[in-house]
Amino acid sequence: MPTQVELFPMVIGGRERSASDGETLDAINPATGELLARVPSATADDVNDAVTAALTAASEWKRQDPQVWRDALLAIADLIHENGDELALLDVQDNGSPIREMRNDVRFAVECLRYYASLTMQVAGRTVPTSSSRLNYTLRQPFGVVARIIPFNHPLLFAASRIGAPLAAGNTVIIKPSEHTSLSAVRVAQLAQKVLPPGVVSCVTGLGATAGDALVTHPDIRRISFTGSAETGRRIVARAAQVNLKTVTLELGGKNPLVVFPDSDIDAAIAAAVRGMNFTWQGQSCGSTSRLIVHRDIYTDFVDAVASKVDAIRSGSPSDDDTETGAIVNQSQMDKVTEFIGIAHNEGARLIAGGSRLTDGDFNRGLFVRPTVFADVDPNSRLAQEEIFGPVLAVMPFNDYDHAMGIANSVQYGLTASVFTSDLGLAHRFARDIEAGYVWVNDVSRHVPATPFGGWKDSGLGREEDMSEVESFTQIKNVHVNFETEGPR
Ligand code: NAD
Repeated sequence: MPTQVELFPMVIGGRERSASDGETLDAINPATGELLARVPSATADDVNDAVTAALTAASEWKRQDPQVWRDALLAIADLIHENGDELALLDVQDNGSPIREMRNDVRFAVECLRYYASLTMQVAGRTVPTSSSRLNYTLRQPFGVVARIIPFNHPLLFAASRIGAPLAAGNTVIIKPSEHTSLSAVRVAQLAQKVLPPGVVSCVTGLGATAGDALVTHPDIRRISFTGSAETGRRIVARAAQVNLKTVTLELGGKNPLVVFPDSDIDAAIAAAVRGMNFTWQGQSCGSTSRLIVHRDIYTDFVDAVASKVDAIRSGSPSDDDTETGAIVNQSQMDKVTEFIGIAHNEGARLIAGGSRLTDGDFNRGLFVRPTVFADVDPNSRLAQEEIFGPVLAVMPFNDYDHAMGIANSVQYGLTASVFTSDLGLAHRFARDIEAGYVWVNDVSRHVPATPFGGWKDSGLGREEDMSEVESFTQIKNVHVNFETEGPR
C-alpha cells in the first residue's frame, strides 16, 4: 500500500515509465478525499511508444504455440490470486467499493483468466467442402495489437480478466484503465511482466480524451474493445472510422428491468430486487436491475418490503469487512446521483428509501449517499429512462404481461433483464420477448464464464466472457488449396 504519494508508473514495452511530458493525474480515495497516489497522464507520443512495443512483441507472440499462451494466462491468474489481498485493497481505496466485493472481483478475475487459458487450443478454423481435388480451410489469426479501454467500476476485474481473451487468441494488448481508477491496472501490468515477453501486455494511464483517443485513432491498432458509457462508445466508433477500418466491440450502459409477477416466490424476488441493484458497488455496475417493475396486485407490500431491506443496508468505510455499501467513485458521479434524486422528486416519484448524502462523522470526508428507492415512477420519465450508474432504484407497477413488456422494452438500452415467476411458459415468453442480451429467470446479477455477456440496442456490440469473445480477437483467413498435379485450372 502506498504510505506516501507514490507514482504508479505506466508499463510500456516491459519498462515502467512516466509520461513524456511529466504530467500526472491524482488518484483520490473517494471515501476519505485523501490523495492516494499519482499516475502518468499519457500523451499521444507515449501511446505511440506502447503501440510500437506491442507491434514488435506481436510478431513473436503470434507464432507461439497455444500452450505458451495458455501457460502464460495460468501464470498470470496465479499471480493475481497470490496478490489478491493487495489488489482488492487498492481497488477499495481507489474506487470506494467495499472490500468484500473487491475480493469477489479478484476471485472472478482469476476464474475468467483460467477459463480463457482453457480455450487457447480450441480457437479452431474449419474445413469447407469444395471439390474432390481441392482443400479449403479457414484459419483464425490474431489481429496483432488490441486496445482494451475499461471503466472505473470494477478496476481490477476488468484490467486482469480482459487481457485474457486477446492473449488467448495470440494478440498483444494495451490496457487503458479509467483515469479515476488506474492503480490496480498498473499492478496487473507489472505482475504480467513476470511471465510475458516485453510489450505483450502494456498499460497506458491517462485521460480518455488524450490517451484513450490516441489509442482509438492509432492506425496500427485494428481491434478495439471498449467497456464504458454509451456516449463514449459512440464517440469511439466515429473517431476510429476517421482513421481506418477497425473492428470495435462495445460493452456499454444499461437501464435493466426486473419484472416480478404475482406467482413468484415473493421473498426471493424481494431479495433479488435489492441484490440486483448492486448497491454493493453503490449501483455502479452495468448489469444492475435499476428498474423494478412489479405487478399491481402485489405492488404495495412488495415496495414496502424492498424499502425496508434497502434501509437496512450498512453504509460504512469501504475497508471494513461488514460494510455493505461504500463511496461513490468521484465528485462528478456524485453530482450525477444527487442531480437525479432531484429530478426524481421533480418528476413526482415517491421517495421510499434513502435519498440523501451521508455527512455525519467520517462520512463527511467522502462521497457517500444512502441507497435510494423511488416508487410510482413514470415509465417515460428521465428517472426510468436514463442510466444513472448510482444507487438509485426506480420502481413502477404493471397491470398485465403486455404492459410489463411495453415498459421493460421502452428504453434505449438492452443489456440485462430479469423475470420472477413460477410459470415456466411465462418465463420463456419473457426470455423470447425481452430486448436484452442477458436474461435471468428467478435470478439476478450472476455472471458465469463461458456464457456470452453483452448488450442489445444501445448497450453494445459483441459478446464477452465466452468462446465467441476469444474468436472475436481473431480474423478469419480462407485458404484454397488445389492439389491436382496439372496445376490450377
Ligand atoms: P466512460 O465512458 O466515461 O469511460 C470509460 C473509459 O473510456 C475510460 O477509460 C475513459 O478514460 C475512456 N474514454 C473516455 N473518453 C474517451 C474517448 N474520447 N476516447 C477513448 N477513450 C475514452 O465510462 P465510465 O464512467 O468509466 O464507466 C461507466 C459506464 O460504463 C456506464 O455507462 C456503465 O454502464 C458502463 N459499463 C458497461 C459494462 C458492460 O459490460 N456492458 C461494464 C461496466 C461498465
